[in-house]
Amino acid sequence: MTDQRIPWDQYFMAQAVLLALRSTCTRLEVGATLVKDKRIIAGGYNGSVSGDVHCIDDGCYVVDNHCIRTIHAEMNALLQCAKLGISTDQAEVYVTHFPCLQCTKALLQAGIRKIYYLHDYRNDPYAVELINQVGATAQKVVLEPEYFQKLSFGSLNELTE
Ligand SMILES: [Zn+2]
Ligand SMILES: [Zn+2]
Repeated sequence: MTDQRIPWDQYFMAQAVLLALRSTCTRLEVGATLVKDKRIIAGGYNGSVSGDVHCIDDGCYVVDNHCIRTIHAEMNALLQCAKLGISTDQAEVYVTHFPCLQCTKALLQAGIRKIYYLHDYRNDPYAVELINQVGATAQKVVLEPEYFQKLSFGSLNELTE
């Protein structure tokens, strides 16, 4: 019998989508999941520095058309590893939007060699070049609804009863 379970790429990308729902910046909701050896080691979403106000409460802090208050989801995931002392070498990242140049540089420098993304988003040509240059890969993931059919409030109720 073939494995009927949700494939890893669908599972980890869905985690990134869930994280994006926690974003506190309304300009773009992004989630990122760091994975190593099929284990989630960290997750992040774009939001303020802990202790600062949230964009959703006080509005974005926009300079040169960017919200400068938020830390990007990928950075937050990496920083969680820095804070907790978790190695990111050879880890993979699942992110809802193609990483910006700064995040791409940070991810590569932190040892991440596989970037899975859900949406193309202003894909930076130099970021793409860098990914190729260091022998990393960026691969688009399409979420397949068939794997999520079991998810419904009905079955969630069964789980919580
Ligand atoms: Zn903002
Ligand atoms: Zn970024």
